[in-house]
Amino acid sequence: MNKYSFSTIEVLKNALAAKEVSAPNLVDLALERAKKLEVLCAVIETFDKESILKDASQTGRLAGIPGYIKDNICQKDRITSCASNILRDFRSTYDATAVSRLKKEGALLIGRTNMDEFAMGSSGETSAFGKTKNPWDFECVPGGSSSGSAAAVAAGLASWALGSDTGGSVRQPAAMCGLVGMKPTYGLVSRFGLIAYGSSLDTIGVLTRTVYDNALIFSIIGGHDEKDSTCLKTEPKDYTKALTGQIKKGLRIGIVQDGIDAKGLNPEIRQATLDALKVFESKGATIHPISIKSLEYCAASYFVISRAEAASNLARFDGVRYGTRVPGKNLLEMYEKTRCQGFGQEVKTRILMGNYVLSVGHASQFYDNAHRVRRAIRKEMQDAFDSVDLLVMPTHSVPAFKTGTYDNDKLAMDLQDYFTAPVNLAGVPAISIPIGFTKDNKPLGMQLIGPHLSEELIFQTGHAYQQETNWHMRTPNL
Ligand code: GLN
Repeated sequence: MNKYSFSTIEVLKNALAAKEVSAPNLVDLALERAKKLEVLCAVIETFDKESILKDASQTGRLAGIPGYIKDNICQKDRITSCASNILRDFRSTYDATAVSRLKKEGALLIGRTNMDEFAMGSSGETSAFGKTKNPWDFECVPGGSSSGSAAAVAAGLASWALGSDTGGSVRQPAAMCGLVGMKPTYGLVSRFGLIAYGSSLDTIGVLTRTVYDNALIFSIIGGHDEKDSTCLKTEPKDYTKALTGQIKKGLRIGIVQDGIDAKGLNPEIRQATLDALKVFESKGATIHPISIKSLEYCAASYFVISRAEAASNLARFDGVRYGTRVPGKNLLEMYEKTRCQGFGQEVKTRILMGNYVLSVGHASQFYDNAHRVRRAIRKEMQDAFDSVDLLVMPTHSVPAFKTGTYDNDKLAMDLQDYFTAPVNLAGVPAISIPIGFTKDNKPLGMQLIGPHLSEELIFQTGHAYQQETNWHMRTPNL
């Protein structure tokens, strides 16, 4: 460990301003630490010092601050592999909008982080580049699919990392690694340069140790981008301004009763969530039970919609346009060999499922019903926000589990999305914040969910919680 391993962006900025340390020093330290903790399998590639420094502006709100980018977000002239053999050598010719905005503000992009292949997974176990370990317990998963981004920040490789969240992939690993993970309103952050998984659900999110740092990164990457037609016409906003340490006067928090009473919810997570509510009460919030009946159907709806969209999106990887090509006797054989050898098992299963649920005769049974559930959850959330400002729900049903636990139980793995996928179906923002530890020292998280474009309120509330608690200050012994 070095002096700055677990520093927040705020602390690093002060150290840089006081000239205690320089940007090149921080790059050296980041690269050394990544090398030392290679065993985590959190990082697919670190870049060389010269190019890291050359890529970033020397001024701006993140000048001199190292960070990581999930390997499904394009960085110009770097490989973007989605942790898949099919894109193993694919080099991006442009920066994702989020990446170019970060570079313009001086961020030092140290490398690309490991992930579940094409962001399909909840545990970091489906990568073609090895399974990521949880920094709190190497025998356990860090959560997924932004497994490497979460493990990198939790292990003190950097103070922040970008991830993507289609059904929970930022919040769930954040919870399992003791971090803050924010999934914004659908369309708040440009998806230009994010390799698509489920286009109606995909968002770019951020992992940090503090809510303050998270708000700072969103202040940079949020806001309209004409390169993404689904990007909302919002102006960039400085979300740090609202972080007073207090909560909004008269804040009404709804506790999703169907969530907290869900069978299968780990009792320690349940208790930590109820304890967190007490902290908000002590700061003046009122707590209201809210029922969201469609919650129990959301994981199934997400399953169908995400697979259908994945099957369409991944059709473009055919050996002709991007990445790996495995030669064949004719065009069809080339397609078959390329896709067969290029994609891993999880991805192939999902493509098959997606095509199945979209096929004639099945679409009305699966796809149309999934959309009915989606409309229901949107409506229920909207109605809930008529009577409360924010909703609270667990992020995960179980703490970090041992690698391989669900190898023979795919359904149990898919149910990891139970509490997070409803948020993507509704398109609303949610943050996962650390709320405690199990008796055997595994981090626990909880979601604060708000209506569309309520990021400011979510950050303000989460930040106020972190002023009263110190869960986010604990670090693994590495
Ligand atoms: N676990 C979910 C899935 O495998 C979510 C993934 C994500 O958000 N990218 O689809």
